[in-house]
Amino acid sequence: MKPDSAYPELLRRTLEHALAYLEALPEAPVAASASLEELRERLGKPLPAGSVDARAVVDQLVRDVAGGLTHSNGGRFFSWVIGGTLPAALAADWLTSTWDQNAGMFAVAPAAAVIEEVCGRWLLDLLRLPPTASFALVTGCQMAHVTCLAAARNGVLAAAGWDVEQQGLLGAPPIRVLTGDQRHGTIERAVRLLGLGRDCLVDIATDGNGQLRAGPLRAALASAPDAAHIVLLQAGDLNTGSFDPYDELIPLAHEFKAWVHVDGAFGLWAAASPEHRHFTDGVDKADSWATDGHKWLNVPYDCGFAFVADRQAHYQAMAHHAAYLEHSLVARDQVDWNPEYSRRGRGFATYAAIASLGREGIAQMVAGCCRHAHALVSGAGALPGVEVLHVPQINQGLLRFPDPSPTATDEDHDRRTEAVTARVVAAGAAHFACTTWRGRRCMRVSVCAYATDEDDVARAIAAIGQAL
Ligand SMILES: *Cc1c(COP(=O)(O)O)cnc(C)c1O
Repeated sequence: MKPDSAYPELLRRTLEHALAYLEALPEAPVAASASLEELRERLGKPLPAGSVDARAVVDQLVRDVAGGLTHSNGGRFFSWVIGGTLPAALAADWLTSTWDQNAGMFAVAPAAAVIEEVCGRWLLDLLRLPPTASFALVTGCQMAHVTCLAAARNGVLAAAGWDVEQQGLLGAPPIRVLTGDQRHGTIERAVRLLGLGRDCLVDIATDGNGQLRAGPLRAALASAPDAAHIVLLQAGDLNTGSFDPYDELIPLAHEFKAWVHVDGAFGLWAAASPEHRHFTDGVDKADSWATDGHKWLNVPYDCGFAFVADRQAHYQAMAHHAAYLEHSLVARDQVDWNPEYSRRGRGFATYAAIASLGREGIAQMVAGCCRHAHALVSGAGALPGVEVLHVPQINQGLLRFPDPSPTATDEDHDRRTEAVTARVVAAGAAHFACTTWRGRRCMRVSVCAYATDEDDVARAIAAIGQAL
């Protein structure tokens, strides 16, 4: 059976379903409402024995997932750093599935390959990174770390006379990865996946703002001056959004021949806003950078970006050749820079997102999120019974709801903070999550959806007021 006769009606119905979702989004309760049991009951049918009409499958799918979708792509989701989807990016993502290109190589998907060349150039420009850096469009910041740290592993071991791609890690000179103690969990997974193991991580105490300082970094480097070092810095701490002092730390790390990698999952985007750019001063001197497209650039999942200053190390860590493939001598084959082989043409959505906003639109989107985060935290902070632990310098803030009882302990304050946050989430008008920061539970406020506006902020503040 040729499926094409079903397409017009199927895709029109699908468009209706998508529009119904998007039209309801601004007013929908943010949290999912269906329980695990309900979802398993509805979706967990026996494996169908035969074929079912595609229209019926899609209609049923839409009915069955109802209540099980978090409306995180609207304007009132502030829990984790989760962006929405720009209209142009959503549309391009639909076409990506329609075109179904295998974006591994120029020979099989030429437009996808060229789109990624352009995305790389645009992204390096927007993020003010060296225009000569190599890049990869990966599934998220997790795989951007893996890609960058594979290049780092190659680079620092090559400098020690060891070819890790040929010889592996058995018997290799040891690598130490120096990082602040507030690092994101994806770093640990990246070093595990790369065979370096958790023991390679050397945690360095950060200051009150989560920043790494030169004194402790120098001491850590000097404690093993001959080791192969990777230094991990942050652009946007996951709780406070703080930035490490790059102008001080990167030259210091380079004195010890360390490779400097930057986790900039969302914070690197501060460079795209003239108002916030100063936070990233000097970050361009690092050796590799990881960031996300599905967070602050507001493209659909899965989308992350890896950038590497030493193109050779990146290429050697990833390049792949096979006799049955047609490798291009002039175009950029993604397979040589990415950890995947066959892969989605994720460049289309990134391209459309950047093309639709332009440099100025992206600057406004980043600055707007920062302004809304500030308004949300200071507005909620003005309510009685709210303590502000961190006023956003970019898009991340922290609130706490102390227990008013005169004999309340820290545990009571933690409990009340969790209870108030849970009440806000249950009421549906806004979505927040708790985190532990400097030993205390607090409510994390994160704004990175382009859809968030003043009205969403006012509704979120009102929701917190009601929950109190
Ligand atoms: C979200 C995040 C990551 C992980 O990114 P994914 O896209 O989820 O893989 C890493 N570091 C920081 C600071 C983050 O906020």
